[in-house]
Parts: sequence; structure tokens; C-alpha cells
Amino acid sequence: MSAQRILDGRVAIVTGSTSGIGLGIAESLAEAGARVVLNGFGDAAAIEHERTRLASAHATDVRYHGADLTRSNEVHGLVEYATREFGTVDILVNNAGMQHVAMVQDFPPERWYVILELNLSAVFHGTRAVLPGMLARGWGRIVNVASVHGLVASTGKSAYVAAKHGVVGLTKVVALETARTGVTSNAICPGWVLTPLVEQQIRERATASGRSVDDERRALLAEKQPSEAFVTTRQLGALCVFLCSPAADEIRGQAITVDGGWTAQ
Ligand code: NAD
Repeated sequence: MSAQRILDGRVAIVTGSTSGIGLGIAESLAEAGARVVLNGFGDAAAIEHERTRLASAHATDVRYHGADLTRSNEVHGLVEYATREFGTVDILVNNAGMQHVAMVQDFPPERWYVILELNLSAVFHGTRAVLPGMLARGWGRIVNVASVHGLVASTGKSAYVAAKHGVVGLTKVVALETARTGVTSNAICPGWVLTPLVEQQIRERATASGRSVDDERRALLAEKQPSEAFVTTRQLGALCVFLCSPAADEIRGQAITVDGGWTAQ
């Protein structure tokens, strides 16, 4: 087994992996030899293109399931699909998430509920569904893609910040409950990553300010991220592979920032 294929034989689900960070993590896991189940929304042909590209580029088996993770029964359907196709789920990356920016007094309650469902409750339902199998086999990895907003706040992001703080708390509880087993639970807390989720926020800022998208992109970084460079999806993928390696066997319940210095301030 080469050092690069440390996950040969493992099966991973990466939620929200048709785009952005999830796709980067799915690629890193596939590169390390894992069989991967992709999930998320998008154009069917584009998803199929990514699925076959990952499988052939990394000589592994990659499947796709389109569960809407705001529905708990579909979270279970995703886990059942992976188990049916591959026989097991060794790694669950809870990554799917969404954002809505508005001050609390203007925040639409229906956006609050859907963000809590996807960004927090789906992590609970997915973890609950995979844990019995992981515990029975004595090995597993839960990797939750939280955010710097799981540790600190920003204005206009009440639902997102509440959900991500919840994810960090849930990560710790699961780590304690599995502490004497081969299952670990950790959170990755990225700063700004240039994905569709953030590009949308940059466009909204440009519309509101009348400044160019390039100016708003620079301003977004300058406000929060001292490096003034975006974190990349493959940097997060590499961290996820590390968390799945034997070197990380005793990393439990941590919220690991990859944030260009955001939370060091
Ligand atoms: P993105 O919008 O590029 O990707 C989101 C993914 O989730 C897509 O695959 C989308 O199809 C999927 N998705 C959306 N709703 C879904 C649903 N109901 N059911 C299943 N899948 C659904 O976003 P991203 O920036 O890659 O964000 C991924 C995760 O990283 C999120 O949890 C986000 O909060 C977190 N995060 C992002 C940043 C950043 O700067 N981009 C920073 C910190 C944390």
C-alpha cells in the first residue's frame, strides 16, 4: 500500500460534495484510495461527469446519491444506499451547508429552520445512522465541516453561527461517547474558501455597495482573514485525509481551524 493510498478499502460518504469544499474533500479521499459516495444537488450531467472523473482519475469506485439532507429520512436513505452498495460506511464527512445573511430582526424564520435542519440536524441524523456500524467494526471517522463561525460570530449570520456552534458541540459529545473506541469525531473550521456559497455573498455585497466583485472579494478577505488568501478545498481535503490516518487516532473532539489567522486575532 503506497503512502498516498492510506484509505484503500475504506468507504466514505461526503455530504454536499457536488460542489465546493465537499467536492475537494471527496477528491482527496478518493486519491487516498477510499470508495466514495457523493451527495448534493446540481445538474445531473455535471454530477455524473464529476463522479466518473473522480473514479477514473483515482482508480476507485465513486457513487452518487441525491438525498435532500433537510429531511431526516433521506439522511438515513443516503447511509442505507452507501451500506447497500459498499457493505459499510467507515468515514462520514458531514459537509453540506447553506447560508443566509440578514440581521436577526429581518431574518426569515423559514430560512432559520432550513439552515438548522441542514447545517446541524443532518449532522446528528447522519452520525446517529453510521455510529452503530462503526462501533461494531471498531473503526470510524466522523469529520464535520463546521466553520470559524462555529467558534466566533459575525453579524447577519444568526442561523449559520448558531448551527455551526452546535456542530462543534455535537462533535465534542460524539468524541466523548466514542472515546474508548476506534471511532473519532472532529470538526474542521475553515475561514473563507472561494466556493459558490461565498461567491454568492460576494455578489450580494457588490450589489449592495455598488463596488466591483473584485473589490468586494478583496474587502471580504481583508475584514477577517489576515493572510488575505482564500483557503483551498484541497487543503481541507488533505486535513480530512490526515484525520482519517492512524496518526490522528487520538485526535478526539477537536475543532481544527484552517482560517488564514482569522481566529488568532
Ligand atoms: P457550496 O454551496 O459550494 O456547496 C454546498 C453543497 O451542499 C453542494 O454540494 C450542495 O448541492 C449541497 N447541498 C445544499 N443543500 C443541500 C441539501 N438540502 N441536501 C444535500 N446537499 C445539499 O458550499 P461550500 O462553501 O463548499 O460549503 C460546504 C460546507 O463548508 C458548508 O457546511 C459550509 O458552511 C462550510 N464552510 C464554508 C466556508 C467557505 O468559505 N466557503 C467556510 C467555512 C465553512
